[in-house]
Amino acid sequence: MTQVTLEEGVVERLRADFGARAVTPDDNDYETARAVWNGTVDARPAIVARCKSTADVQSVVRLARQTGLPLAVRGGGHNVAGFGTIDGGIVLDLSPMRSVEVDPAKRLAVVGGGATLGDLDRATQEHGLVAPMGVVSKTGVAGLTLSGGLGWLRRKHGLSIDNLLAAEVVTADGEIRRAGEGKGEDADLLWALRGGGGNFGVVTSFTFQLHPLGPDVWLTFVLYSLDDAHEVLLGQDRLMRAATEEIAPIAVLGRVPAVEDFPAELHHAPFAGVLAVYVGPPAEGESATAALRQLAEPLADLSGAMPWVDAQQLLDADYPDGGRYYWKSANLPALSEQVVDVLVDHANRAPADHSTIDLWFNGGAIAEVAETATAFGNRDALYLVGVEANWENAADDEANVAWARALLADLEPHGSRGIYLNFAGTPEEAAAAVRAGHTESYERLTALKARYDPENLFRHNQNIPPAGP
Ligand code: FAD
Repeated sequence: MTQVTLEEGVVERLRADFGARAVTPDDNDYETARAVWNGTVDARPAIVARCKSTADVQSVVRLARQTGLPLAVRGGGHNVAGFGTIDGGIVLDLSPMRSVEVDPAKRLAVVGGGATLGDLDRATQEHGLVAPMGVVSKTGVAGLTLSGGLGWLRRKHGLSIDNLLAAEVVTADGEIRRAGEGKGEDADLLWALRGGGGNFGVVTSFTFQLHPLGPDVWLTFVLYSLDDAHEVLLGQDRLMRAATEEIAPIAVLGRVPAVEDFPAELHHAPFAGVLAVYVGPPAEGESATAALRQLAEPLADLSGAMPWVDAQQLLDADYPDGGRYYWKSANLPALSEQVVDVLVDHANRAPADHSTIDLWFNGGAIAEVAETATAFGNRDALYLVGVEANWENAADDEANVAWARALLADLEPHGSRGIYLNFAGTPEEAAAAVRAGHTESYERLTALKARYDPENLFRHNQNIPPAGP
């Protein structure tokens, strides 16, 4: 941790021309202001600047340039690598900017740069609409969207970025730009935001395309014994290759949580589960997904109809703030007996009960978008394997990190290629994965980075270096 002595008057200057709070180590709420979701990240910023408006964001961007202090941009604070905070620098915190305005006639939502998925779901569901986002409601819209955005609607409506139509952005020069494909809008900037992460500026508002769904949806949530993992995973693979895009399952290998939703005799039992929300009427979903619930003899079947907003919050409790987390990923072209062997072997060896191995079955609308149409790479990979090491005590850090790394190393001989940049391990591992994560779009991204942020002010992220002259 770095103790920074701020040049005299910096905080005063910020406060003078700033509508919101600048929290410093002398303030009583500094400990809460500096905290992010991942408890392994323990940075002590010099200032946490809580922005209420686009003008506040401009002030903070300019201050970062003038002082030379390193800058972190925080949306929902849920980045797993901890990019939402920084030692000795300025955190530009957008958490006060969580407004969501819905235009039901045009099926559009304009969303503040600090909104969470829960904020967006609540507002859009008032009109029977949804935006394709992720599967845990406390996650930030901003970080999730800018590096892709995978959720239950991904095979039907694509990634979050595929539904991002426009954005208001404060770029490194402190100016406000409008990214979009309309008249007077910056189409290159929109292209870069669609997968290029936080590299191109601070997004103060996003405009998303919405889709009708809900209020109730069908949730498939069935747990089988890990002993049946081959039948479950390969059976699901067979079914999904013929399935419609309304179904986008995540198969999960883990251990049954010791909570009252499950009978006590199942607590801690290793499972292979299938989860999915059907993107359509619940009754249709129940019949369309029936076979996913009969892949073997279930240990437990919690499937049923429920409000979309509840389905979106179902997994929240599994990810408490301040827990210790290390998440990595690998794209896989296909599943095989041998891959399942690797997954089961590592599931059995997980040092922590809360850790999971998640298989996102992708394809569908994700793969229908051309590889260079956005900055998101590896769209043709049918599977994303997410490895979530989730544990409680610092003493167990090494064992959990080693577990996740060993699994990914063992997937390499099976054609794993590129990662999902939102599940990227440590900041250093994220940096090393950026080129492969953007595939053919990488060179264009470095050229655009040189245009919008030539001094790499926005570098505390899945960083794209500016191209040289
Ligand atoms: P923050 O830590 O606030 O920000 C992360 C980075 O995003 C910043 O460093 C910055 O570079 C950039 N950023 C943030 N806000 C802005 C802004 N307004 N303008 C410009 N740049 C900005 N991902 C999925 O795709 N699908 C899921 O279902 C999913 N589930 C998750 C569940 C949990 C519990 C967690 C912790 C993460 C999950 N993720 C998922 C990964 C998630 O997408 C990333 O962790 C993402 O970075 C979180 O965004 P945030 O805004 O909360 O993060």
